[in-house]
Amino acid sequence: MTDPIVLESDTDPAPAAPFTPAEERAMRQALDQAQNAWLVGEVPVGAVILRDDADGLPQVIATGYNRPITTTDPTAHAELVALRHAAQLLDNYRLPDCTLVVTLEPCAMCAMALMHARFKRIVFGARDPKTGAAGSVVDLFALPQLNHHTIVAGGCMEAECGAMLREFFAERRAAHKARQAARRAPAEDDAIPVADVTVDDPIPIGVAVEIDPDPPVPPDARGAPA
Ligand SMILES: [Zn+2]
Repeated sequence: MTDPIVLESDTDPAPAAPFTPAEERAMRQALDQAQNAWLVGEVPVGAVILRDDADGLPQVIATGYNRPITTTDPTAHAELVALRHAAQLLDNYRLPDCTLVVTLEPCAMCAMALMHARFKRIVFGARDPKTGAAGSVVDLFALPQLNHHTIVAGGCMEAECGAMLREFFAERRAAHKARQAARRAPAEDDAIPVADVTVDDPIPIGVAVEIDPDPPVPPDARGAPA
């Protein structure tokens, strides 16, 4: 018989909360931003940038939501929309005093942009097993050749952030199925009247068979057209 496995958490003191109350408040605001993206048909990802004020209290200085489709800009991920606002506001291309809070793990493009801007800290919610560049697919922040400035903490309100994305893609899949079903079974109003169909007048196969032009929606494709 082997000894029971003792988890570290059984013996170690409870670890300090990895996220500050201000970061959790910011994550709620980032979820509101993600909702804005959903409302305009974009994959719901939102971001908020925090910076301490003169009294040392964290303040929201910029927000952003995912909008590559609506702006026809493949780089318009939530993080970069917020980053551009913050850099313009502070009139500085480096943001070393700032923390970015985002609902989804940054991709490689955003990870590098955030490192170029020298963010102090990145907090993200849901992990992205397909394109996440903060540990899921690759961890660019952990490469000392690339990163000397930015600390990353993932999993802040992970359940809420993940649920929003799952609901969005479930709704989109349901709409896609409904469109397919509508094409296969035309409404009664559109049906060909029985009297019009004769043996001499068959419906050509090429008309009856439609190929759905919409490709299946991958679950991680930020910015994929609806
Ligand atoms: Zn990105």
